[in-house]
Amino acid sequence: MAPSFGFDVIARDAGARRGRLTLAHGVVETPAFMPVGTRAAIKGATFDEVDALAPDIILANTYHLHVRPGDDLIARAGGLHAFMGWAKPVLTDSGGYQVFSLAGRRTLSEDGVVFQSHLDGRRLSLTAESAADIQARLGSDVAMMFDECPSWPATHDDTRAAMARTLRWAARGRARFEALSEGLVPDVLRSTPGQAQFGIIQGGTFKDLRDESVAGTVAVGFEAYAIGGLSVGEPTEVLYDVAGHTAAQLPEDRPRYLMGAGMPDDLVEAVARGIDLFDCVLPTRNARNGQLFTRRGPISIKNARYAEDLGPIDPACTCPTCRRHSRAYLRHLFVAGEITAATLNTLHNLHFYLDTMRGIRKAIEFGTFEAFRQAFLETYSRRQPL
Ligand SMILES: [Zn+2]
Repeated sequence: MAPSFGFDVIARDAGARRGRLTLAHGVVETPAFMPVGTRAAIKGATFDEVDALAPDIILANTYHLHVRPGDDLIARAGGLHAFMGWAKPVLTDSGGYQVFSLAGRRTLSEDGVVFQSHLDGRRLSLTAESAADIQARLGSDVAMMFDECPSWPATHDDTRAAMARTLRWAARGRARFEALSEGLVPDVLRSTPGQAQFGIIQGGTFKDLRDESVAGTVAVGFEAYAIGGLSVGEPTEVLYDVAGHTAAQLPEDRPRYLMGAGMPDDLVEAVARGIDLFDCVLPTRNARNGQLFTRRGPISIKNARYAEDLGPIDPACTCPTCRRHSRAYLRHLFVAGEITAATLNTLHNLHFYLDTMRGIRKAIEFGTFEAFRQAFLETYSRRQPL
């Protein structure tokens, strides 16, 4: 196990866990939401602004940073933390999800994936080993193993083949990670010596394949385990059911990360099923499209009904945007195409997600998570509230 890695479950409330995850660059209080900084930036926000929202960890994308500016350059700059000016933990994805979404521009083999850069058409490849090398150069606190991400829906046979290949890649990726950790790969500059590596469970919506994937991935042995291949278009009930089924079989003493989820109510429901870590582009991407999250549900700020609405986005919100600005002002900025709209909307949405997680953590500590969950779900609607 990576020497700087630790995880303690400090409170439980039914299936929900309140934990403390120790990584090379600091402690992450769980359950935690990781804001997505795809290209080493939270779009629209400075790191001073991100700091003020107090996330314990952010995510950056291996594929995008490998293509530009390149992980060699970032390693020479001292690693991702030094390069972007962020001192707290960072998780990098494996690059798999982006590569597999380059339909038509990639070729899959047992070795890995050959693909064309979306920027300049350069032929590049990603394998279990090179994904570990790239993330070692980036120097994230958490590297993800390289996995195959099948599209949804997929047949049992296709899902099984992808899951089985992912298991073979798990063994290869872990072996490479261990070689890197032991200094046996001298040509790869390792920016964060205490880096940890998480395994990824695949198997789509098939519980028998999820079981097989859990057994095989845990047998390889990683610092922690992620549930991949969900939040890809399946119905919400299926997401909850498969995530809960899978989480229940993962080791009790390791964090569980549900990749790519989700809507605010998804976070609450997944925590109830034993999930500890989340990432999702929704709060930031939707902010730039004018969708703002409130306790009652998401609202579209461009709607004419807000033209003269002088109240804040959410009267209960304590974010910098709500403390200072009205819905009418934010609608004006959005409609006028002011770039400040993206910043103010992003800060509000990220605060909403991070504050929801703070509420969840407090509720688990006090043993009142079930009441929190009921109250949240009664108030929150995915349909736009009036
Ligand atoms: Zn706010």
